[in-house]
Amino acid sequence: MVPFSCRCGTVKGTLADIGWGNHARCFCRSCRAADIHTGAVDPGDDGVTLYQTTPDKISFQSGQDQLKVFSFGPKNLLRWQASCCGALMFNTLRAPGIPFAALRTDRIADTSALGPIASRGFIPMQGGKHRHVGAGQMALGMLWRALVGRINGRWKQTPFFNTDTSAPVTDVQVLPKGERDRLIAQSAQ
Ligand SMILES: [Zn+2]
Ligand SMILES: [Zn+2]
Repeated sequence: MVPFSCRCGTVKGTLADIGWGNHARCFCRSCRAADIHTGAVDPGDDGVTLYQTTPDKISFQSGQDQLKVFSFGPKNLLRWQASCCGALMFNTLRAPGIPFAALRTDRIADTSALGPIASRGFIPMQGGKHRHVGAGQMALGMLWRALVGRINGRWKQTPFFNTDTSAPVTDVQVLPKGERDRLIAQSAQ
């Protein structure tokens, strides 16, 4: 069990089955813009670190009612944030049927239990292109965990959705089109 917490300590919980997930760094523009949107320091080209797992491995001890959620578009990932202090906490897909959740590792006091970063996504290259390291394994891992979660029914154990309706437990704030690019351009000034 690895404990996690928002910045102010109101939202607290634990991650179970650490060997099950994947420790990754993501350099994509959406992760960067999400940090800027929530008032965190702009990670710039350094990317953000995530621990990818399935929602049934995440449990809350307190502050679950503080979670709020936004997205950069009507079909984009859901980005879950603590409303008490603004800390960005989780990413999930938009519906519970494909069980996937990623915890921002800034929310873990001691990340040594997660092991080294095994994959890197969206590494910027010259000319605006991207490359991925360990991404095949990462994608397979995500598929595999989702499939197992689907077969054993554990996808229904999620703190993020009402699995009867597939709706998130709280209303999604969809940010206006272009907001992601605007946030990055503004921060780069
Ligand atoms: Zn990303
Ligand atoms: Zn907080």
